[in-house]
Amino acid sequence: MTSMANIKSLCVYCGSSDRGSPTHHDAALHLGGIMAKAGIRLVYGGGRIGMMGRIADAVMERGGEVIGIIPQFLEQVEVGHSGVTQLIVTDNMHDRKQKMAEMSDAFLIMPGGLGTLEETFEILTWKQLGLHQKPIIIADIDGYWHHLTELIDHMIAESYAKEENRALFQVIDSIDELLPALSAMPAFNTDVEAKWL
Ligand code: AMP
Repeated sequence: MTSMANIKSLCVYCGSSDRGSPTHHDAALHLGGIMAKAGIRLVYGGGRIGMMGRIADAVMERGGEVIGIIPQFLEQVEVGHSGVTQLIVTDNMHDRKQKMAEMSDAFLIMPGGLGTLEETFEILTWKQLGLHQKPIIIADIDGYWHHLTELIDHMIAESYAKEENRALFQVIDSIDELLPALSAMPAFNTDVEAKWL
């Protein structure tokens, strides 16, 4: 089990679009408030735009700490957020994702698009390979990630993923469940050999 005392930084993966449903926007604001109040630092992709910008603003406005990590080539596209506690500019995408992972004690997946999905699968598969043991929480706000969890069920049913892989992540339906989920995340024991044999 993880303990909340171990969670000082939370990496949030989420969309660079701002056109999601109002429920997603409310969840972003709520998340910012909860993180600032709990003293959990936000680590995120460093942009000012979309859901990611909203969450960063919400944490900052409530007196929390925010570390943005953005690759140089995206600084103009995603509008590097100059109002965060620290903005780290990396040489490339791989360094960005590596640094986001290293600087975080846990990961939260909010609604997002293809980039969010790529980041989600990378952090899940790194855990599957035993490269980290950190909690991964999927925020299924308004059922947004329903198709994703269904796809994982399908992979398990078709024997391309193992039943144990369900323990790689935890699904919550609302942001109110975040702190309890972070405290109660069961340890994931990776047996890399068993995965391949
Ligand atoms: P999206 O979910 O497509 O709006 O992207 C959300 C974030 O994921 C953005 O900050 C993207 O820069 C980032 N991202 C990470 N990896 C990738 C990737 N391989 N392709 C596209 N976006 C990515």
